[in-house]
Amino acid sequence: MVKQNNLLATLDELKQANLYRTRRIIDSAQGVYLRVDGRKLLNFCSNDYLGLANHPQVIESFKQAVDKYGVGSGSAHLVCGHGYEHHALEEELADFTGRERVLLFSTGYMANLGVIAALMGKGGVVYEDKLNHASLLDGGLLSGAKFKRYLHNDMHNLQAKMHGLMPDQQAMIVTDGVFSMDGDYAPLEALSELAQQQGAYLMVDDAHGFGGLGATGAGLVEQCQLNQQQVPVLVGTLGKAFGTSGAFVAGSEVIIETLIQKARTYIYTTALPPAIAAATRTSLQFVINDSWRRDKLKMLVQRFQTGARQIGLDLMPSESAIQPIVLGNSLQALQASEHLLQQGLWVSAIRPPTVPEGSARLRITFSAQHTEQHIDQLLCALEGLPA
Ligand SMILES: *Cc1c(COP(=O)(O)O)cnc(C)c1O
Repeated sequence: MVKQNNLLATLDELKQANLYRTRRIIDSAQGVYLRVDGRKLLNFCSNDYLGLANHPQVIESFKQAVDKYGVGSGSAHLVCGHGYEHHALEEELADFTGRERVLLFSTGYMANLGVIAALMGKGGVVYEDKLNHASLLDGGLLSGAKFKRYLHNDMHNLQAKMHGLMPDQQAMIVTDGVFSMDGDYAPLEALSELAQQQGAYLMVDDAHGFGGLGATGAGLVEQCQLNQQQVPVLVGTLGKAFGTSGAFVAGSEVIIETLIQKARTYIYTTALPPAIAAATRTSLQFVINDSWRRDKLKMLVQRFQTGARQIGLDLMPSESAIQPIVLGNSLQALQASEHLLQQGLWVSAIRPPTVPEGSARLRITFSAQHTEQHIDQLLCALEGLPA
């Protein structure tokens, strides 16, 4: 028999430290209300920011594609899995992002692992914001390059870390666009200037900016008006505001061609089901054209912030649909989440190692499908949280 006493001990330690994670089983589509254990919960933890995951026309496109192409893609893109719908989506995303080319990946996690390792290697240096998403940190570590983390959004600290860079050394600065657990924005203009000065790649993962930010929903990079030269490696995910699944990398012809040849998480995995690509083509049209969804989201966030200040809650410097309330230790976050749950509100408690020690929090997210009444209901419940 396998010796697994050490595993049991580790699980026990996690429980003792209030770090044990459990899953709730949902028996409904994504939306403002979720059905969980026979209860209807008002949902404030989804990344379906624009409310597209269950949109009738997105579903219809999915169904039509399933009728035509079936379910599975059959193989990897480089074998016989690269379909018409995948290719059309790549071209439409290239137009959308204003980049020469786009490459689809099956998940954002795999995109980040694959891209950094394909572009960087031994001898190079990868610089990452301390609060970057786990997939970016893992990608940097896996690449074999020297790995350095700089203080969150701290340009002075990054500059200091880049000081020892040799002229012929390959370098890459990697950052979230909208930070996933804090909701604040990376200083992209300053990062881009520094990267260009140093001859380094700048890679921006805007998983939480796409859909919600920019005049056409093309994210923080659109909002800051940064082109392909200024942000040469741009990553977006499709499982959040797009409401489907998968991810993409946008960049120059030569970068995308390099990824096709070298990114192992692209080459050695099955392509997304074609129907997911078809559904995403439809959701992309809603992202671009339904600017009312972004406006509504902004309005809801403002209403929340005003109300939260009135009841004395400490907000983080976030203007995005991610509005965290930092509580401190894991038990405090768990208890607050549980208290809200009892009142029919689902707000997830985020604990270390997802966030730094001592900054466990409620991570509140909004959707364009929420109403002002939903916000008020949330504020009312937050006001009633035991101190
Ligand atoms: C969610 C997320 C990912 C991972 O994307 P998946 O498609 O869910 O694997 C990567 N980066 C950031 C910043 C994210 O928030």
